[in-house]
Amino acid sequence: MRTIIEQHVISGKRFPFLNMVNALKEIAKGTHRPYPCGAGAGYMGVSADGALSACHRFVNEPAGHMGDLVNGINPTLQNGWLSSRHVHQQEPCHQCWARYLCGGGCHHEVLEKGRTACDYIRGWLHYTMQAHERISRLVPDWYR
Ligand code: SF4
Repeated sequence: MRTIIEQHVISGKRFPFLNMVNALKEIAKGTHRPYPCGAGAGYMGVSADGALSACHRFVNEPAGHMGDLVNGINPTLQNGWLSSRHVHQQEPCHQCWARYLCGGGCHHEVLEKGRTACDYIRGWLHYTMQAHERISRLVPDWYR
């Protein structure tokens, strides 16, 4: 079954659904993601009073505190975050076939609500791998 994104890609039209496009390109390159996103590493959230947090969702929440604008990023907090949030440290992610495409799920959702969306995540990643097979066979230049 070809979905709308595949129909667009195969006919040479743009389909700016970046989650899907990024997943297709990661699968094609064979890369892996040790985290679900760049929270606490490549980007942070900042509160109105200058506190730094792992991302916008953690603003004013102790769990993702990373320092403040006056004193900068606290390396102990940041290193602790990055080591504890690595997908290898997550349960049950280290046994999940999708771990290097998923990265362990949104940090904030996981800490607040647990891993309730894993079947959905695995389902859409399974579909994405199938779509990658069709796209790479039918329009291999799309990846260039
Ligand atoms: S799908 Fe669920 S169990 Fe698998 S890596 Fe993602 S968050 Fe972890």
